Amino acid sequence: MGVTSPGVTSPGVTSPGATSPGVASRGVTSPGSSSLETEYVRFEGRSYHTSCYRNHVAVRCTLCGKIIQGRFIKDYWGNIYHEGHKNRVSRCDYCGRFISEKTTGGGARYKDGRHICGLCRRTAVQDTKRGRELLGDARKRLERYGIVIDRFDPGFHLIDRGKLKRVSRLSRPPDSEETGFTHFRSRSRGGRIVSFELDIYILLGLPQSHFIEAAAHELMHVWQYLNAPPKNDRALCEGSCNYAAYLVLQELSGAESEYLVHNLFGSKDRFYGEGFRRVTRLVQKRGTKYWLSRLRANRRFPTG
Ligand SMILES: [Zn+2]
Ligand SMILES: [Zn+2]
Ligand SMILES: [Zn+2]
Repeated sequence: MGVTSPGVTSPGVTSPGATSPGVASRGVTSPGSSSLETEYVRFEGRSYHTSCYRNHVAVRCTLCGKIIQGRFIKDYWGNIYHEGHKNRVSRCDYCGRFISEKTTGGGARYKDGRHICGLCRRTAVQDTKRGRELLGDARKRLERYGIVIDRFDPGFHLIDRGKLKRVSRLSRPPDSEETGFTHFRSRSRGGRIVSFELDIYILLGLPQSHFIEAAAHELMHVWQYLNAPPKNDRALCEGSCNYAAYLVLQELSGAESEYLVHNLFGSKDRFYGEGFRRVTRLVQKRGTKYWLSRLRANRRFPTG
């Protein structure tokens, strides 16, 4: 049930600006009695020569470079765009930037319809060998928090969006934007799992930090299959998977992983967002060990 950060589907912060950073008013003054006129621009309570305003003060659109006087969109990265670009220029599915030569060094559209900008594309995970390495790295990082998966020998597959939708339907209805899925089969004896088989699927071409987030999330599903009661509460289950992803992301340095953490905390989804924040509060209060012990013993969040 491999869904990760719904943050991926809502890239960036879209704030159609209520205020206009542009020209507020324009005054013409005539110093003395001469016919020499100087044009001023009023902006945020100050007056500027028109040329000073244009060259030093005015807010310019990251995309077209022209001064913004009306409504605008601001993304997570601080770029400001004319609102009018919204329907004409694609945004990156992974960082929320508008894609252009100037802003992102171009970008691409994957065959399955996803848009990725040139910046995110630089680290995109396209081959299985690299994917396996990163998966192994995420597993090692989780071990340090007590999330240990023994006998780990999964089938590992990088697949496009259409294929991911098909495989994830094997067990649960898919969520809107999934980045990974784990297919787990086990044999039990006397209530104990004696053997299991595992296939981990992750979306092809994710930027590296998104891949790591998805990998850690799926690994936490595996841990829960092996350690937690079956069919535990979905908010607890997915919230715990996102918490594992958070543990790994906050160890990585870089603006991309910070962006993903920002999205985890901002997600409005009741399982992936609210569930995650509940797990976060639980761990802050009681520690990682307590969280894992509760997961082992219970189907639901502890009360209180
Ligand atoms: Zn999941
Ligand atoms: Zn513009
Ligand atoms: Zn991007």
